Amino acid sequence: MGKSANTDYELIIVGGGPAGLTAGIYAARSRLNCLLIEKGMFGGMIVTAELVENFPGFPDGISGYDLGELLYQQAVRFGLKTQTAEVTALELHNAQKLVKTGEGTVSAKAVILAGGSERIKLDVPGEAKYTGRGVSYCATCDGAFFQDAKVAVIGGGNSAVIEALQLAKLAQKVTVIHRRDQLRATRANQEKAFAEPKIEFLWNTVVKAVEGGDFVQGLRLRDVVTGKESTLDVAGVFVSVGLKPNTGYLKGVVPLDDYGYIITDKKMETEVPGVFAAGDIRYESGRQSIIAAGDGATAAIFAERYLGQ
Ligand code: NAP
Repeated sequence: MGKSANTDYELIIVGGGPAGLTAGIYAARSRLNCLLIEKGMFGGMIVTAELVENFPGFPDGISGYDLGELLYQQAVRFGLKTQTAEVTALELHNAQKLVKTGEGTVSAKAVILAGGSERIKLDVPGEAKYTGRGVSYCATCDGAFFQDAKVAVIGGGNSAVIEALQLAKLAQKVTVIHRRDQLRATRANQEKAFAEPKIEFLWNTVVKAVEGGDFVQGLRLRDVVTGKESTLDVAGVFVSVGLKPNTGYLKGVVPLDDYGYIITDKKMETEVPGVFAAGDIRYESGRQSIIAAGDGATAAIFAERYLGQ
């Protein structure tokens, strides 16, 4: 796409998950000339969730795929323009900000960055096959499926420990599997986990493979000190080895925190006037679709005010 009149917008939204699509619904309803750019599937990370039970308005739950599709349909019904392309760079020096993609350059007076984050995977055999069939990356989303079951949490950071504490409320037993002999999580979180009788720890242990039939039945493990292999029977595996925000192209462009998340104020605006961020890509995000949607609505409202100034 070359630079021409139809590549200039009032607002460009980068990312088509719940944050970006909600921002798009608000912007399109406000009749802003707005383009949403998504590199993959509209709906974002939520489309991988088998059943979403905590998004308000769906008392019987909804599949993540259907939720993503509904959000998309709602946004385009109001006239939101969309493009499938990967954003590779932003130039924010001028009033008309440039958004560079694999397909060309587009520009807008305001930008909402809603590109989300990616879960870091274990990258072991069986992980992909059993995702949604016992392997999960989110206890809040999927923990309820493992009532009275034995589950494992992989990782030793704050997220892993918080996931384990959450799962201990309903599972029969939670085994935290960590590759070292010390947790990375804060002392306060560690103390809570050590005090929870349902949580056990397997130290110096890594997952070699996820195994089962139609659903997960267990893990093949390796002790990194002795090299000894073992198996552990579990119905659920919660991988919690970190998230990485999709902000590689934003270093030095907008202020990021130490982990690469975009820093915003309460209006979702970054230090750069007219540049907003919403959803999981934003620091201190609650990492929930409904929170991302709320961020998106907030960002769109304040982007519209910015445009009206
Ligand atoms: P994290 O702090 O980066 O921890 C990731 C954990 O997974 C580490 O224990 C790491 O082991 C382990 N790990 C990484 N790759 C692995 C692999 N391939 N195989 C096995 N284990 C692996 O990530 P996080 O827990 O998702 O947290 C992300 C950030 O958000 C952190 O800064 C965290 O403090 C923050 N956070 C804070 C709170 C809070 O309540 N304060 C809650 C959630 C998250 P090593 O320890 O050996 O590196």
